[in-house]
Amino acid sequence: MRKYLIWTIGCQMNVADSTHVGAELEKLNIQPTDQLHEADIVVLNTCVVRQSAEDKAVGKLGSLKPWRRQDPHRTLALMGCMVGVKPSSKLRQAFPWVDVFMEPSEAQPLVDHLRNRMIESELADIERRQLAQRYQWQDADTPTASIKHLSLAGEPPVAAYVPIVYGCSHACTYCIIPFRRGIERSRPLPEIVNEVRGLVAQGVREITLLGQIVDRYGYDWEGHANLVDLLHEVHGIEGLYRIRFLTSHPNYMTDELLEAIAHLPKIMPHIEVPIQAGDDEVLAQMKRGYTADDYRRLVARIRQVIPDVAIHTDIIVGFPGETETQFQATYDILEELRLEKAHLARYSPRPGTVSARRMIDDVPDEEKRRRHQLLEAQHERISAAYNLRWQDQCVEVLVEDRHKGKWRGRTPQNRLVFFEDARDLRGQLVDVRITWTGPWSMQGVAVDQEPALVAPPLAFTLTS
Ligand code: SF4
Repeated sequence: MRKYLIWTIGCQMNVADSTHVGAELEKLNIQPTDQLHEADIVVLNTCVVRQSAEDKAVGKLGSLKPWRRQDPHRTLALMGCMVGVKPSSKLRQAFPWVDVFMEPSEAQPLVDHLRNRMIESELADIERRQLAQRYQWQDADTPTASIKHLSLAGEPPVAAYVPIVYGCSHACTYCIIPFRRGIERSRPLPEIVNEVRGLVAQGVREITLLGQIVDRYGYDWEGHANLVDLLHEVHGIEGLYRIRFLTSHPNYMTDELLEAIAHLPKIMPHIEVPIQAGDDEVLAQMKRGYTADDYRRLVARIRQVIPDVAIHTDIIVGFPGETETQFQATYDILEELRLEKAHLARYSPRPGTVSARRMIDDVPDEEKRRRHQLLEAQHERISAAYNLRWQDQCVEVLVEDRHKGKWRGRTPQNRLVFFEDARDLRGQLVDVRITWTGPWSMQGVAVDQEPALVAPPLAFTLTS
C-alpha cells in the first residue's frame, strides 16, 4: 500500500487545497501517513505571502532532498503560491529534485504524474479501475459525485474548508496573491452545493466558504448567483450545523449579506474583515480602497445588524513610509473598536508586488518588531477582556476533537473551548458553562454534567 504525506504552510485556502489533493490521492488508493520514512509521495504546499513563510518552504525543500534521492520511486510535489500560476524555469532549476510542480488548487499534475508511472507498473490495472470508478462518480448526480475533501488523517473532519472563489483581482500593493493565484474565478454554485452535501454525508458538520474576497463570489460571472444566494442554498442542507465564510473586504459587505447572517441561524456571527492599517494615507498607499472612517462605519453597521457578532481583522505594521504617528492611528483604532481578534503581520516586500518595486522598505526590522509587540500586547488585553464576558455563561460548542485529554470545540463566535467529558461528543453541539477564561481560550463543563445544586440544609434552632 502506497502512502502520501502532505505538509501545508499558510492560509485556510492552502489547507483546503491540501485536503483536496489528499482526497484525489485516496481515490488512487494511496493512504495518508504522518511519517516521512513511510511516505512514497510527499506534497509540500507552500505560501509566500510573507518572507518567513517562503524561508520555511525553502528550508523544507532542502531537507527533503536526501529523502527524494534515496529512492527513485518516490515522488516529491511542490504546490501553492511558491509555484504560482505557472512554474518558472528558475524554480525548476533551483529544485531539480522536485518531480511535480502544481499551481494553487490544482491536483491534476500530480494525479497525471502518478498515473504515468503507474501505467508501467503492476498497479496499472487497479488504478484504471479506480479512475473509471472516479469518472463514474463525477458523472453521477448523487451527493458523493463531487466529494473532494477528506481528512488527511483518513477520517472525516468535523469542520472543513470549501473554496468558492479562487484568485483575486484586487491588487493591493503589498500582496503577492494575484500574481500567484491568478485572477478572481468563482466556482459554479451547483458544484459547491454538491461538494458541501458530499462533505455532510461524510460527517462534516461545519463548513467555511473561502475566497480572498469571499463577498465577491459571483461578481466575475454576469447574472450569476452571489454569496447571499449561495448561503441560502447551503443553509438548506440537512445535517450541516454551521456555516462560516472568509475573508471579507470592507467594500463588499452589503446590507443584504449582513441581514442574511443575522437571520439564517446556521450562519455563525463571525466576520473576518481586514482593516490592515488605521491611517488613511497608509491605506491609500496599500490601495485598499477605503478610509479608516469607512471601516468605523462598517463595524458600527455590522454590530447593529448582528449584535453578538465577533469581528476579526488583519493588520500589517511597518508598511513602507509608515511613521510613528501613522502606526499610532492603527493602535488607536484597534483600541477604539475593540475587535475580537487581530491577525498581526510585519511588512516584508514580496518580489513583483507594487510595493516591492516602487516603495522603499524603510521601517527598520527592529521598529517593525516593536510595533508588532505593542499590538500583540494590546490584542492579548482586548481578547482576554472579551473572553471574560463569557465567564459563567452557557455557550454552544461544536466539538471538533480531543486535545490533551479534553474535548476541544468552538463557539459560534469561533472562540476555542476545552472541557472534560467521558462521552464521545465528536461532531456534536454541546452547551457548555464557561468556568475559566484566558485571552486565547476558555474552559468549561457540559451543562448536562454540571453537579446538581443541592439545597443547603435548613438550620434549626432548638429552643427549650
Ligand atoms: S484583497 Fe488585496 S490583500 Fe486580499 S488577496 Fe486580494 S490583493 Fe491580496
